[in-house]
Amino acid sequence: MWYGALVALHVLLVEDEEELRTSVAYALRRAGYVVHEAGSVREAEAAVRRADRVDLAILDVMLPDASGIELCRRMRAAPRTADAGIVMLTARGEEFDRVMGFEAGADDYVVKPFSMRELALRLEALARRTRRPTSARILAAGSIAVDVEGHRVTVAGKEITLTALEFRLLVTLLERRGRVQSREVLLRDVWGIDADVTTRTVDTHVKRLRQKLGEAGAAIETIRGVGYRFADEPET
Ligand code: CA
Repeated sequence: MWYGALVALHVLLVEDEEELRTSVAYALRRAGYVVHEAGSVREAEAAVRRADRVDLAILDVMLPDASGIELCRRMRAAPRTADAGIVMLTARGEEFDRVMGFEAGADDYVVKPFSMRELALRLEALARRTRRPTSARILAAGSIAVDVEGHRVTVAGKEITLTALEFRLLVTLLERRGRVQSREVLLRDVWGIDADVTTRTVDTHVKRLRQKLGEAGAAIETIRGVGYRFADEPET
């Protein structure tokens, strides 16, 4: 599937021991995660607000301003982080922390000191369980892949730059694959009904979009006298 390959998972890493946090963040980034670092609960909540999204979280229990368990509870209660996979970092022998962590909604825990490999394995397992395709909408057709939220388009793995309009045009055609879209419908849905443009504008933009897509642009078919259609997946 496309999801894993194209969309990096976002990890919230909350740990007040700076050296440990830096090395974990480094390893996670090398493994392809997008990491949001925080050294306290307050910083963590600010990081969540700034982040595009949070798929996974690593929360130390002992933090300077409040406990990681409390943070976990708050994350579960907030819609944006309710579904995140959460791993707690607990001190050796703190059975109590583990029980409290699970009660607060943590999915797993790692006992300090831990190896990066151990943490990475737990995270991967959690990522598989918590992966939500809807949170990262990828439209894929042939060699074209569109990350709808991230506003990124790749053709055969290479990113191409589209204007906002071309992007909307491509997404609209892709979402309605195999169905002919008249110029009027495209004008309404891509440009907006009040736009002061003519149907010729649609032709101009489709032409430019095709050029940018290169060979893959052939998938946008002209239906004479009607409009355009993104070719359906060939039957295999
Ligand atoms: Ca700590």
